[in-house]
Amino acid sequence: MAKKHSLIISKQNLSPLEHPLKSHHKVEIFLDVIQLRIDWVDKRVYDLIVVGAGPAGSSAARMAAKCGLDVLVIEKEKFPRYKPCGGALSERAVSALDFSLPENLCERTITGTRIHFKDLALEKHKNYPLTTLVTRSRFDSFLLERAEEAGAGVLMDCRVEDFREKADHVEVRCKDDSYQSRFLALCGGCQSSLKDRVSGQESGRKSGICLVTEIEASEDEMKRRLHETLDIYFGVAEGGYGWIFPHRGYYSVGIGGLSSRLKHPRTAMKNFLRDNGFLGCYQLHGHTIPLGRFKPRLASERVLVAGDSAGFVDGFTGEGIFYAIRSGQIAAESVAENLQVGGKRLSEAYRSRCKVEFGDDLRYAFMLSRLLHSRPDIFFRILASQEEVLERYIDIATPRTNYREFMRWLLPRLPVRILRAL
Ligand SMILES: Cc1cc2nc3c(=O)[nH]c(=O)nc-3n(C[C@H](O)[C@H](O)[C@H](O)COP(=O)(O)OP(=O)(O)OC[C@H]3O[C@@H](n4cnc5c(N)ncnc54)[C@H](O)[C@@H]3O)c2cc1C
Repeated sequence: MAKKHSLIISKQNLSPLEHPLKSHHKVEIFLDVIQLRIDWVDKRVYDLIVVGAGPAGSSAARMAAKCGLDVLVIEKEKFPRYKPCGGALSERAVSALDFSLPENLCERTITGTRIHFKDLALEKHKNYPLTTLVTRSRFDSFLLERAEEAGAGVLMDCRVEDFREKADHVEVRCKDDSYQSRFLALCGGCQSSLKDRVSGQESGRKSGICLVTEIEASEDEMKRRLHETLDIYFGVAEGGYGWIFPHRGYYSVGIGGLSSRLKHPRTAMKNFLRDNGFLGCYQLHGHTIPLGRFKPRLASERVLVAGDSAGFVDGFTGEGIFYAIRSGQIAAESVAENLQVGGKRLSEAYRSRCKVEFGDDLRYAFMLSRLLHSRPDIFFRILASQEEVLERYIDIATPRTNYREFMRWLLPRLPVRILRAL
């Protein structure tokens, strides 16, 4: 545990005119006006430094603190900060948290999904929750508070610019200071370039692109349009879909598609807004999103990547919060295990745990995405003729089932011509 020393120097009425210094050095220092506090910390070596306080970073920090590690989170923004997101928190994401969410954070409980493709619209509902809608700025602040509550240190408004991996620690450099830790978790999201030093750089073409906006709406209007339903539109953004989600007092409206295919995202978004009766002038926020493939390298000797930085996103729906929470928690547990009992190399331990827990989900989600986007007409005809497909699919948002079970059920029911197109 590092020692923290604190020296407080205060000055009072320190006016050279009223209190001129005399040659015999009788100096009077009074203490009412300015208080200078100088802290110095002997070069503290944290067990774990976490870069980024999104769901991956805060979950990693909370888990690390709960495992008894000395952990510091460094976040470049001041919270609460805006985060472009649909804010759909699946039930399995909710169940991955070791605390409950306060009611005021849960804006709406979603029990159904409506899917549109051309003139087709299919809707399915369950009698249990599938998703909870949250506003990311508030949700992320809440997760960070849970990390602090567990004992994690937090440094806000401080961008990590670089890191250097040494034999027995990692040097983490910010603009004005540097920090040391035995391990480093990179949870800076999809757009942070720090992750590339561990898992390699991906070309821009190999990611998804999203545009999102928030549109004010009254409760009556939202009940008329959607109520407890997520509205999904295929065929509006190449390689992806459009969404309308009913939050509290506003809609989240967005599109997401493959960077390699969605050449004019702004035009696609404007058309999507217009076609759904949103005719105002809206501020559009763009963001990249990983494709959702399991990267070959997720950690070096002392540095791990988690969440979007690791590319952990459902390649079909774009869901990433669940994977961010779980990979953050697994990263912290892997570090704690390594510190406490050693054993398997950190990179192998972390990778194999992630793979066992959600490797199949990422693989099948990616496969489903290719399936749908290669033959959307056939896929939607099947969807329309076999109600059970959607009925079963929407349960993936819950801990009741997963992609592996769903695909095992679906694949034998698909025509050979679709499977050949894969
Ligand atoms: C438009 C859009 C809509 C989406 N909708 C959904 C949805 O409805 N449901 C869902 O489950 N997923 C959704 N996703 C995916 C989801 O947002 C991400 O998967 C999730 O935010 C990943 O969490 P994270 O903690 O890995 O990264 P982030 O949430 O991106 O957090 C990273 C944090 O790191 C900080 N940071 C970055 N670089 C540095 C640095 N150098 N130094 C210090 N701090 C740094 C950032 O400021 C940020 O706070 C959506 C994504 C997009 C783009």
